[in-house]
Amino acid sequence: MRILLVEDDAMIGAAMQAALKDASYAVDWVKHGQAALAALAAQHYDMLLLDLGLPGKDGMEVLRTVRNQRNAIPVLIITARDGVEDRIRGLDGGADDYVLKPFSMPELLARMRAVQRRKGGVAEPVLTSAGLTLDPATHEATAMGQEPVQLSNREFALLHALMVRPGAILSRSDLEDRVYGWGEEVESNAIEFLIHALRKKLGSSAIKNVRGAGWMVAKQP
Ligand code: CA
Repeated sequence: MRILLVEDDAMIGAAMQAALKDASYAVDWVKHGQAALAALAAQHYDMLLLDLGLPGKDGMEVLRTVRNQRNAIPVLIITARDGVEDRIRGLDGGADDYVLKPFSMPELLARMRAVQRRKGGVAEPVLTSAGLTLDPATHEATAMGQEPVQLSNREFALLHALMVRPGAILSRSDLEDRVYGWGEEVESNAIEFLIHALRKKLGSSAIKNVRGAGWMVAKQP
């Protein structure tokens, strides 16, 4: 999953970016509202983490612009603890949830998973399709009849991208977009390498190769 982080505080932003990467998200970080809108216009993101107090175009204006453009991207706003008015305006302005500063990263990650489930119309926390299960909270995957296996961050990011839409074919560049953020070196065979590793852990039929198009996991029969 690729996340756009909008945060003007250098220390908080750097800490969040590092923690999100550790949690296997591809993260692009911008520090003001105009840059956020430019990034959203140029790139697909799965979620927007939006600080409300930004220099120039503030977070509320960014949110308003995003929703006016009929962009349904999940938005989690980040606000000060005393900013109850801001939280109300944010939620009424189309945000999906909020966290209060200072927050714990485990709480932020749990809220992100919850927002993602609600937006995806899936109530169950564990993704399943065609004999595979994937737990976004633990990064454990299970192939039918086998013990759960722990996935690396990038293995998880890749399998998650496929399992949120079983039956959909994702190309190499679709997958690179979801696994790697800006400035991350992507080796030309990196995606094949990850798929090879996942098949080794989960069986060769876990991920299907669609010749010339990309990869998919099968839809639940
Ligand atoms: Ca701020």
